[in-house]
Amino acid sequence: MSSYEAFHRRSIEDRDAFWTEQAMLVDWHRPFDRVCNYDNPPFARWFEGGQTNLCHNAVDRHLSVRGDQNALIFVSTETNAERVYSFRELHLEVQRMAAVLLAQGVKKGDRVLIYMPMIPEAAFAMLACARIGAIHCVVFGGFASHALASRIEDATPVAIVSADAGSRNGKVVPYKPLLDEAIRLSSHKPSSVVMVDRGLEPFVSLPGRDHDYTALREQHLNAQVPCEWLDATDISYTIYTSGTTGKPKGVQRDTGGYAVALAASMKHIFMGEPGETYFSTSDIGWVVGHSYIVYGPLIAGMATIMYEGLPVRPDAGIWWQLVEKYKVSVMFSAPTAVRVLKKHDAAYLQKYDLSSLKALFLAGEPLDEPTATWIADAIGVPIIDNYWQTESGWPILTIANGIEKKRSVFGSPGIPMYGYNVKLLHEATGEELTGADERGVVVVEGPTPPGFMQTVWKDDARFINTYWKSVPGKMVYSTFDWGIRDKNGYYFILGRTDDVINVAGHRLGTREIEESISSHPRIAEVAVVGVADALKGQVAMAFAVVKDAATLGDAAARLALEGEIMKRVDEQLGAVARPARVHFVSLLPKTRSGKMLRRAIQAVCEGRDPGDLTTMDDPSALQQIRDLLA
Ligand code: ATP
Ligand code: MG
Repeated sequence: MSSYEAFHRRSIEDRDAFWTEQAMLVDWHRPFDRVCNYDNPPFARWFEGGQTNLCHNAVDRHLSVRGDQNALIFVSTETNAERVYSFRELHLEVQRMAAVLLAQGVKKGDRVLIYMPMIPEAAFAMLACARIGAIHCVVFGGFASHALASRIEDATPVAIVSADAGSRNGKVVPYKPLLDEAIRLSSHKPSSVVMVDRGLEPFVSLPGRDHDYTALREQHLNAQVPCEWLDATDISYTIYTSGTTGKPKGVQRDTGGYAVALAASMKHIFMGEPGETYFSTSDIGWVVGHSYIVYGPLIAGMATIMYEGLPVRPDAGIWWQLVEKYKVSVMFSAPTAVRVLKKHDAAYLQKYDLSSLKALFLAGEPLDEPTATWIADAIGVPIIDNYWQTESGWPILTIANGIEKKRSVFGSPGIPMYGYNVKLLHEATGEELTGADERGVVVVEGPTPPGFMQTVWKDDARFINTYWKSVPGKMVYSTFDWGIRDKNGYYFILGRTDDVINVAGHRLGTREIEESISSHPRIAEVAVVGVADALKGQVAMAFAVVKDAATLGDAAARLALEGEIMKRVDEQLGAVARPARVHFVSLLPKTRSGKMLRRAIQAVCEGRDPGDLTTMDDPSALQQIRDLLA
């Protein structure tokens, strides 16, 4: 047995001893009495009786050893701002923000909604909430009024922290009017709105409700706000899933389990050492931003980079310039961002000294082989795919090179992480699939590990019914992803369970067809969906973006390219997988987090209502598809 296998086995078979050891990676105000209470499945309660605080672990505990080291590095290529906060400065700012929130009447257990661009005050607000025991609910700043209103309604915040505006591609994106409209639409009204005024966009203040953060902060410059000691099982925050497959779900997370899970992952998976710099290119509005921009790196005593801007502005070298400048050792991004970089010359990335970088982690969607190979060649460091969900809070499948060095297998995010008892089940019978290369639903057997969601916010019944009752006869957590495991134990994610299509009795993952199409040298990106067909049950339909739209040519040229692509699929997968049509578009419908909205494309193809589109990025992408089909 390899050392990682032994480590994983122990995490399942000797669970309490394993996690007791991991729990030593964080500070406890009061030790826990019980490691895991699973008396009432599927609700796992971790570290009962223990008391701790996320902000203490992320900030205060580092003051004595590394008070003057970098903690938060803010870089905006939108406003040309750059500011570095040491742990000591971060401690001051978090206390100021905490004092402001307390003065607004926020108490332990109250919700504070954070609707902000990527600016330091957003991190201060999250940490300040953790400090005083308020529950934060960060809503991605790119969302408009409707998406925001439904979250205000669900979270019922006492206070909202926001800003005048964000900026994207050099253009100011006003936040305040969207926030005002969202509050108008919501039946719940916050009593206080704290506004960080960046001076980007004038806005109207509502007297009595809206407050200027700069003025409030001035009143609390010397604030000393101690950490509230929270029960390990107290709620730290809620966050919504991306809404790729339907209405977003409100994920609720605990305090102690989350702290331990992040500290352990920083060590075993990310190999981040105190004093080094971590750069996650995500946004605080997503779970990756919570776990690996704010809490994880800081808990590990690392500096964290918070970057506002595009990966390709002023040019495609900007991220790599930051790696050189701040000696980034661990970087975390998404395949969608790499695909954006891939449209530019790799020379931009290679202009800088990347020798500090140990690995680049990628997550959020399947990492296709060509993309993985391109970035690996461009930057020359290990590329580590990792598969997880908003629900899990940290990786479910990847490799844990802090325990045992393994090579990535491109196309596979890896093997089950410690603490996760991952299984593949037959979708219809619920039978466990133990052989190699069998396809099934990826599930996690309870108890789910520390850091995993506690429940759906305010809705235990939805938690049970949505996640734990989807496989017949078995109470297991379903990821709603479809996968296979090879003979070496590596998993391959084939797509969402509802992305499986059935052509004349043959079950095909849309991902396989997409990979085949995108291996064509002229294709940049493609989405494949199953469309109802009277004869075959379903047929595959492809929507592709070509690398250079200018070369696409006239109808005859398009038809020729379509023919080439079909031939390629025939050769690689067989004629059953051949798409009925390959349509060419200039962009594809995605969520704001960059995930393909296949369900929306499918609905449009079948003439159905595409459902909840509040998290969609650019509506013109779906319109293009409508127009093409009309
Ligand atoms: P919703 O649950 O609301 O439909 P969502 O599933 O897109 O939205 P997230 O929690 O942001 O919301 O995304 C998790 C999903 O992203 C996973 O279930 C999986 O489908 C996909 N995913 C994440 N990382 C990877 C990866 N490394 N490889 C393949 N798929 C991935
Ligand atoms: Mg999901």
